Amino acid sequence: MSTKPYVVLARKWRPKTFADVIGQEHVTRTLSSAIRSERVAHAYIFSGPRGVGKTSIARILARCLNCEQGPTDTPCGTCASCLDMDDSSNFDVIEIDGASNNSVNDIRDLRGNVKYGPSQHRWKVYIIDEVHMLSTSAFNALLKTLEEPPPNTVFLFATTELHKVPATVLSRCQRFDFKRLSLDEITQSLETVCAAEGMEIEPRTLQLIARRADGGMRDAQSLLDQVISFSEGRVIHEDVIQALGMVEDGILLRVIQAIAASDRGATFREARMLAAAGIDLGEFLLQLADGLRTLMLLKIAPDGSLCETTQEQLEELAPLAGSFEEDDLLRMLSLLGGRIDSLKRASQPRLNFELILLRLASMSRSLQVQDLLSSLAGLPEDSLGQHTEKKKP
Ligand SMILES: [Zn+2]
Repeated sequence: MSTKPYVVLARKWRPKTFADVIGQEHVTRTLSSAIRSERVAHAYIFSGPRGVGKTSIARILARCLNCEQGPTDTPCGTCASCLDMDDSSNFDVIEIDGASNNSVNDIRDLRGNVKYGPSQHRWKVYIIDEVHMLSTSAFNALLKTLEEPPPNTVFLFATTELHKVPATVLSRCQRFDFKRLSLDEITQSLETVCAAEGMEIEPRTLQLIARRADGGMRDAQSLLDQVISFSEGRVIHEDVIQALGMVEDGILLRVIQAIAASDRGATFREARMLAAAGIDLGEFLLQLADGLRTLMLLKIAPDGSLCETTQEQLEELAPLAGSFEEDDLLRMLSLLGGRIDSLKRASQPRLNFELILLRLASMSRSLQVQDLLSSLAGLPEDSLGQHTEKKKP
């Protein structure tokens, strides 16, 4: 057995140059040209969902600025500065986790250090991750530094919650909004990783992992790690579905069919079967929401151009689109949106799960109710219930 420690894929495959970064071209292109034209700002803030490359790009920018061949937008990867970056021993690149160093004293320490400037390389780079976690007084202390930025020092802030960063700080930063990655971007990247690592995994399995990662590359890579360790050499699609707590598309389709037919009996039977199978019920509702969302996008654009799913799933779902009205799907999605989180906290998750599915099966009836109302509108007033009620003594 190898004694080498296993390096997780997210770490092993962390991009080292702008060209390696997937899906954030709007950011890398602007930063590249800022470096080439020597117009690097004193402070940047990178905002966006977790695991889409914010910290990776911050590290690449630090690499670009301090590479001995640079500043360059294509760092060499072989000089002392680049190599120091590889094993996180570059003294002039200081990474601070905003979540655990959020007090005013932490920022005072930082301000004390800032005035010394870079020690070995050209630039001193401060990377503060989760910067929104800083306390108000820490932000105020930081602001003083940003107001009078020391030369050759650049601040790179990353946050998943931009709205929690004070406007006074934001106004002193150049801001980049990172995007969630597309299904294709993640799938292709996973394919590259698997090919390089000599792993054989079916494309549909990689698509499944990509779908589950919901736009985050780091999550996708962690899931792939999980799948590899679970599979002991041979990755079987069905095993992956089980390992990720998901259900097969066939089961999902049956549930959607039962809901489409407003068949509460069939819906309940499926719900009971799913709960008994011990799957992650919250995860199933996410899959269901994803399926209903695809149906809604098919209603809006029947050619499937808005959908982000596999061709296989698209072909399965397309025939069902006619069974729903757009309004029904909107109401179902908003019901699911509100219930998925509360299911995780529920004391009776199984009961809640069954109720949610039954509600969905009872909801796809706006058409029938509307038909009923319009037929009632044609009836004489006396035949309506409330009138008979009033006649009672
Ligand atoms: Zn270099």
